[in-house]
Amino acid sequence: MSKIKCSVLECEYNRNVMCQAPMIQVNHNSVRRSKESGETQCDTFRPKDL
Ligand code: SF4
Repeated sequence: MSKIKCSVLECEYNRNVMCQAPMIQVNHNSVRRSKESGETQCDTFRPKDL
């Protein structure tokens, strides 16, 4: 998989600002068509406390 830099440190897949998940799913963020990065979201996120 491509290297993915991610600043969401509270995700259980984050190690040293890099994503360690075997794959990620990115979806629209409350819109039908995204026009900017803020209108996308990582659905693979899981909080570390789970
Ligand atoms: S799963 Fe998503 S939120 Fe979590 S570290 Fe990877 S890219 Fe970031």
